[in-house]
Amino acid sequence: MTRPADARTYDLDDLRDRVRGESGGAVDDSIPQLAEADPDLCGVALALPDGTVRASEQADVPVSVQSAVKPFLFALALVDTRGEALDLIGIEPTGEAFDAIKLETGTGRPPNPMVNAGALLTAALVDGGDVDGRNERILRGLSAFAAQDLVVDEDVARSEHLLGDRNHALAHLMRAEGTLSVSADDAVAVYARACAVLVDVRALAVMGATLACGGVNPVSGERVLPAHVARDVVSVMATCGVYDGSGRWMRSVGVPAKSSVSGAIVLAAPGALGGAVVSPPLDDQGTSVRGRIACEVLSAELDLHVFGRR
Ligand code: GLN
Repeated sequence: MTRPADARTYDLDDLRDRVRGESGGAVDDSIPQLAEADPDLCGVALALPDGTVRASEQADVPVSVQSAVKPFLFALALVDTRGEALDLIGIEPTGEAFDAIKLETGTGRPPNPMVNAGALLTAALVDGGDVDGRNERILRGLSAFAAQDLVVDEDVARSEHLLGDRNHALAHLMRAEGTLSVSADDAVAVYARACAVLVDVRALAVMGATLACGGVNPVSGERVLPAHVARDVVSVMATCGVYDGSGRWMRSVGVPAKSSVSGAIVLAAPGALGGAVVSPPLDDQGTSVRGRIACEVLSAELDLHVFGRR
């Protein structure tokens, strides 16, 4: 058995070169801004528990965070509701697409916080009182995870809000079931804006590292979350973070993660590191094709699989 590589010296440009030739997948076209993404973009970053952030070329290209925001919205909702969010949202994997128009049978709750129904609800549960207040709370909360002031791409936020018909449908369905207390349009507005927050792989890796380090941001030193909340969030990333591809992901990568339609993937390897990959072409389940390969390689070479080595 070869010895695992050391994350402190691991060659991320070499990893990027090894996955860049993969040409499979298609760029998301649900909104014009995503359809215009550069299919050749490929960046990787790692954030270590000692606060070191290491990155490949193209690590500073911003993309909208999209569904990679969902673990962090769940975290903020857990904090702001003092755990009540766990009663209001399920935590079981669905085996279905992220935007399936479906709620938990019997309860009408969203099935889990990593699919759109769940994230529409977590975004509605954070403190703030109204849309502006919740937007503000989310942007401040995400910035604490990233150890930098993040900003919103207002065009993306507008498009997500206007064109997110399935999200409007889900919000109305939750209203009908009595599981969403704010108006459907307010819920979509806040969720759409959260998806439109701009991150680069460095910022996203630090966000993942904050979860991996039990809620303490290793770059700023700030405790962003209680340790038990970080553990809950990472647990649900492990079971639901890659939607109907979560089982395959857990077997082949074995690191809790969250995928997104911008081609960003955030990784939280508990106690070891946070990581992120961005590459826009997606597979049928909405996961970055190069991102998946890069995560498989990283997991194998840095010995990150939670259930051990091959
Ligand atoms: N903006 C997207 C949406 O709701 C996010 C989806 C995703 O990244 N999977 O619908």
